[in-house]
Amino acid sequence: MSQSFLPPDTPQFRRLWEAQEGLCALCGKPMPASRAEMDHATLWKKWRPTYDHIIALARGGPDHESNLQLAHALCNKRKGMG
Ligand SMILES: [Zn+2]
Repeated sequence: MSQSFLPPDTPQFRRLWEAQEGLCALCGKPMPASRAEMDHATLWKKWRPTYDHIIALARGGPDHESNLQLAHALCNKRKGMG
């Protein structure tokens, strides 16, 4: 799975972003809305918003928006599944 370093800009992303008010679903802290908010590309890579499957696909979760939330890339990685 490759994800752009640019902020995702899709209707789905916007719906999730607005539903979560820009907060990470895993740690509850604000996520940067764009690369421009971060001083360094390495920080953006860690803290950029990424899609997280609430129920992992490997555990039978649906690949559907109802099973998606936004989380920091780092939090998503720590959780250990996408
Ligand atoms: Zn987080």
